[in-house]
Amino acid sequence: MHTSQDLRQAEAVRLDAVSKTYGRGDSQVTALRGLTMTFADGTFTAVMGPSGSGKSTFLHCAAGLVAPTSGKVTVGGTDLAGLDDTALTKLRRSRIGFIFQSFNLLPALTVMQNITLPLQLAGQRPDKTVIRDVVRRVGLGERLGHLPAQLSGGQQQRVAIARALVTRPAVVFADEPTGALDTRTAGAVLALLRESVDIAGQTLVMVTHDPVAASYADRVVFLADGAPAGELRRPTAEAVAARMTRLGAWDDETGRTSAPQHSGGRF
Ligand code: ADP
Ligand code: MG
Repeated sequence: MHTSQDLRQAEAVRLDAVSKTYGRGDSQVTALRGLTMTFADGTFTAVMGPSGSGKSTFLHCAAGLVAPTSGKVTVGGTDLAGLDDTALTKLRRSRIGFIFQSFNLLPALTVMQNITLPLQLAGQRPDKTVIRDVVRRVGLGERLGHLPAQLSGGQQQRVAIARALVTRPAVVFADEPTGALDTRTAGAVLALLRESVDIAGQTLVMVTHDPVAASYADRVVFLADGAPAGELRRPTAEAVAARMTRLGAWDDETGRTSAPQHSGGRF
């Protein structure tokens, strides 16, 4: 029998039979169909699937941003359904980080103000050591007084990563974090995300359609039509691309068929 403390150490996130249906009647769409999945502490998982397969809905449910229609989401041993809005917001701010494809920085705030914003929202006193460590890891020491518009895309995403890590969350969710970046910049951002798992012990769940990005993960889980469609452990870009070809019909958000790339990655 596990105590909740054991579970908290073993599983950062757990989904049990999670379903999500949007709308009603004729316009009803089922985005997730009874998804069960666990994400162990200190692991990096990539989530892949065709456009519309439910990847973003899955991330939003797992992060407590969207309530499932049925099923259960547990973060760090806490059942999200048992929390009222205030408690859920508090848990999200302290235990969960989120990284978006479009960075979502506040344009009027400096780099430092953007990074420390989650601490202010969570009512936590900024720990100078933690902030210094996060800033050093993302390599933005010289830019702390700059505004987001004065930074490149890769630098803006590094600010967003620092912002997601500064509360030292149990789990960080990233939805296509390298989708807006060129290959070289994406590589630097992925290396940073990998480091947050290997060095800081963070748990990372990343949606991507890029086999090279997926190859940075410990495991790739595939979604198709709101349900699991297999997984790969210790993925190489080649193995991921081969699996994608077998599953078929992989379009990215722009509607182009994404050509698998074979350079880079960990191998
Ligand atoms: P993916 O991220 O894999 O492209 P999504 O989770 O965004 O998939 O979408 C899964 C399905 O749910 C799609 O059919 C999409 O149109 C639908 N969907 C997503 N969000 C909403 C929403 N807010 N309202 C209605 N339908 C939605
Ligand atoms: Mg999506």
